[in-house]
Amino acid sequence: MLFKEIVGNEVAKTRLLKTVRESRVSHAQLFLGPEGSGKLQLAIAYAQYINCTNRTETDSCGVCPSCVKYNKLIHPDLHFVFPSAATGDTKALSKNYIQKWREYLLANKYHASFNDWINFLGVERKQAIINKDDCNEIIRTLSYKQYEAEYKVMIIWMAEKLFHASAPKLLKILEEPPEKTLFILIAEDQDQILSTILSRAQLFKIDKLNDDELAIALQQHYPVDPKMLRRAVNMSDGNYIAAERCLNQIEDERQYFGLFTNWMRACYLNNIVKINTYMNEFSKLSRENQKAFLVYGINILRQCFLIHFGSSNIHRLDEEEQVFVRNFSAFVTPNNIGAFSKAFNDAVSHVERNANANILFVDVSLKIHQFIKLVATPQASVKK
Ligand SMILES: [Zn+2]
Repeated sequence: MLFKEIVGNEVAKTRLLKTVRESRVSHAQLFLGPEGSGKLQLAIAYAQYINCTNRTETDSCGVCPSCVKYNKLIHPDLHFVFPSAATGDTKALSKNYIQKWREYLLANKYHASFNDWINFLGVERKQAIINKDDCNEIIRTLSYKQYEAEYKVMIIWMAEKLFHASAPKLLKILEEPPEKTLFILIAEDQDQILSTILSRAQLFKIDKLNDDELAIALQQHYPVDPKMLRRAVNMSDGNYIAAERCLNQIEDERQYFGLFTNWMRACYLNNIVKINTYMNEFSKLSRENQKAFLVYGINILRQCFLIHFGSSNIHRLDEEEQVFVRNFSAFVTPNNIGAFSKAFNDAVSHVERNANANILFVDVSLKIHQFIKLVATPQASVKK
């Protein structure tokens, strides 16, 4: 990773470059910053820069043998330690998951979040730690001379997940590491890091991205329309990873919107053929997405109801959704909002209990027709 590929963090980049220029690279540093701020990107770019054989004043060359290996995260003197847990026959140890780790980082441009990583591994949140075997492995790895680089680099990601009982093993090597060794600890929560570790590392704080930087970073990877981008930025507080999640959710919701509005029209007309068509669409969704779709539906219905009292959050919806909410609000009133909510919430719990999706969908559809009939007047009709 080159420094110029990292969006924002200009102050941090300048400070890191200065340490190399002035030969003041501290042997143990703690990169502390919120999720999605780019701290792992900076750590990798920094390590690559230190070992680049043809670096300029401001960046690595990107093409020397060291850079080529860094680009694939396979340099023999670049080591990673991160939270893991046992899966199947694989014991919990970073070394055993290094292939997956590389795959994960390369797919995400070196942006990593603890939740996404453990989901990727398929393990439980509370099980994923940096354990005593990892600590032994760190000591063993660093006892060998480096293969080819000037600096051997050990990046410990999510240092707050270091199992407290095994941390003392690391204190000596953090304090007096072998020559030309660089420890970069990466963490989000300073309060969860042992004070004995904190006192042995130089603290390097990394700020969250500002909104403009976040927008630029997203644009590099997602060719989305400016309105969607702005919405994701507004909802993410400078967190690149949260903004990515937001974009994916907005994408899902656009699909849900089409299905939901069509479904409501079919229910209004009691059009069984169309209800069957949408039932098939619903059944094809995963259980998680069926739930998300129903929750999306409840939220839209809630907005339809609240608009009568001037208290809806309709401005948060996109234009098409706003038009639908205004029109459909004629069918969502104090007389039926309770019944709507109950039907949708019950459906969510039935999905959780693995109910048959087809039966469930038809059952809710019939109820919706009844609820609409309760308030329908000759003037009101379902329009987009
Ligand atoms: Zn290079």
